Amino acid sequence: LATRLPAVGTTVFTRMSALAAEHGAVNLGQGFPDFACEPKLVDMVSDAMRAGFNQYPMMTGAPVLRQAIAAKIAAHYGHQYDVNAEITVTAGATQALTTAILCAVHPGDEVIVLEPAYDSYLPAIELAGGVAVRVQMAVGEAGYSVPWGQVQAAVSGKTRMIVINTPHNPTGTVLRAADMQALADIVRGSNILILSDEVYEHMVYDGQRHESICRHPELAARSFVVSSFGKTYHVTGWKIGYVAAPAALMVEFRKVHQYNVFSINTPMQHGIASYMADPAPYQQLPAFYQRKRDIFRNGLQGSRFELLPADGTYFQCVRYGAISGMPEAEFAEWVTTEVKVAAIPVSAFYQQGKESGIVRFCFAKKDDTLALALERLAAI
Ligand code: PMP
Ligand code: GLN
Repeated sequence: LATRLPAVGTTVFTRMSALAAEHGAVNLGQGFPDFACEPKLVDMVSDAMRAGFNQYPMMTGAPVLRQAIAAKIAAHYGHQYDVNAEITVTAGATQALTTAILCAVHPGDEVIVLEPAYDSYLPAIELAGGVAVRVQMAVGEAGYSVPWGQVQAAVSGKTRMIVINTPHNPTGTVLRAADMQALADIVRGSNILILSDEVYEHMVYDGQRHESICRHPELAARSFVVSSFGKTYHVTGWKIGYVAAPAALMVEFRKVHQYNVFSINTPMQHGIASYMADPAPYQQLPAFYQRKRDIFRNGLQGSRFELLPADGTYFQCVRYGAISGMPEAEFAEWVTTEVKVAAIPVSAFYQQGKESGIVRFCFAKKDDTLALALERLAAI
């Protein structure tokens, strides 16, 4: 069979998790918590099953969940989406991202992607027949930032979409109001769409605020905004998320969605809708993860790793140049198999595998797990 995706192999997350398991390493590679979600959330999903919510839900998502999502977005970001026409529940953020790209990008259209980029964007663009135009984030002492001048320079008459991700995986960079202003200046007067991946929206630290696209009406009017309950409620394996977009965009999104998955499992939608009535779980998330970030950073102070800023997400990027001159993939394998702590090479987030001497660790782990990993890493 002639492949549709010649450049694609098995994802780095799958490979590094398998390597970690094979070598008994502490898995700080693939991003997922090693602790349980709230028992109450599990109870609410079970209750929904027992109450008989077990048949197909509406293609667009259970109304109670769309209602809860719209209320949350309005309360947090001051933007009121139409519950029926502008919100769709998806099988995690991954499906929302791919569907948004497939419904909007025509063959030959250009999509601007910032590298390092989450690994699902480029294959989706390729499947749509689009052309990814890659712009590399700048990296210096203050961490990674978006070079908006270069984004502007990358815009052409064929640009159909710009993909942004804040808080950003893998760098932890959090876009500020000035970034959103720069983005607005670039797209104003064009018909360029924005795909905003905001799965880490509730993991922003040090009192900063999440600059959701939804806070900026001018941008929201041309954007698909994607989030994931997997991140917010510590249930990455549930694969449930959503997309919000203006009605005209959502009409096209749903045309693809209905023949891709049709709908998302019913009891989880009802359980999550009940759970969302209490905002405390996601309001407490920044403090919860900031503490873990600080444990991890403090544990590496005085080690030979150099910490980059970590303003959001549950990832910490480090430079390892004082330890080794190995390429990133090799170093990530070495630290997994020899030091027994798994990491992800940041080069995996670049199509051409750019080498920066930086790897990513995930700190969404029990304190004991972090302590064990830190003991090993600090001893290198
Ligand atoms: N976008 C980013 C930036 C992510 O880190 C992830 C999770 N790894 C996803 C999308 C996918 O989220 P989900 O598991 O809900 O599909
Ligand atoms: N998003 C997670 C990460 O960045 C992994 C998700 C996946 O395995 N596809 O680690």
